[in-house]
Amino acid sequence: MRAISPPQIGFSDVLTSCVGSIADQNLVNKINAVTPQLNLTASDFEVKVARADLFQLPAFTGDDSSIIVGQVTKGELKSLYSSHMVPAKKPARSYYDQLKMSAPLNICPYCGFGHVTTLDHYLAKANYPCFSVLAINLVPSCADCNKGKSSSLATTKGNQSLHPYFDHGHFVNEQWLYAEVEQQSSPPSIKFSAIPPTHWQDIDKERVKSHFKDFKLAARFKVQAATELAVLKGELEFYFQEQQAAGVAEALSRKHAAARGQHINWWKTALFHALAHDAWYCSVGFR
Ligand SMILES: [Zn+2]
Repeated sequence: MRAISPPQIGFSDVLTSCVGSIADQNLVNKINAVTPQLNLTASDFEVKVARADLFQLPAFTGDDSSIIVGQVTKGELKSLYSSHMVPAKKPARSYYDQLKMSAPLNICPYCGFGHVTTLDHYLAKANYPCFSVLAINLVPSCADCNKGKSSSLATTKGNQSLHPYFDHGHFVNEQWLYAEVEQQSSPPSIKFSAIPPTHWQDIDKERVKSHFKDFKLAARFKVQAATELAVLKGELEFYFQEQQAAGVAEALSRKHAAARGQHINWWKTALFHALAHDAWYCSVGFR
């Protein structure tokens, strides 16, 4: 997970912009009538997300025609996003673009390798329609993280995945991602695991593991590693010719240090560390 500074985009600014492009005056009136309630709900989200308490918010499971607040339905709240914030010509699209561009190097903060192509609702709009256009609920994301995220709702503090705008500090500065050579095959099979530091609070340990599981990172990192191993094969041969296994291990240690300098919990950091310390890989496995 990579940290992103929380967006400084107010809920009422986005809402006003979205409502401004609605042609149906009846719908405009209905939304205007509940705007104070929507503002309160957004404030509640802001308070809870900072404490990792979003799991306390009730999830809605009814269909799109169900009334959520005042006379406004779930479908109407969802369409604020899909019909008035996403389409290219709508004024609120500028907020969408601003959020989408907030990920450094356009890298998806959830997985740390995919390219940002969309915005992900941290709390899904299907279950939390009131937050469909709330900026701090909209996270730049790759398509796989957006679509592949586990659909199960977080019902405890521990099973909430990490939020890139708010879960900073030890979640990004302390190592919890590890790799190992799982099978001495050709090519080698790499296993990634989330192993949080023992001194962390149990809730934080659970959250990292939930994040790892929800975004299916073990399987997805494994695929990334397979591509990297193919690249390394040729490159490491050069170091092997020079200094055999010790040369390979040293080259991998340098790669590990460089990767770690960028992101401690990056799949490449974990991979290079595992490979540099695997005697079999450094002597024969890399081939
Ligand atoms: Zn991703």
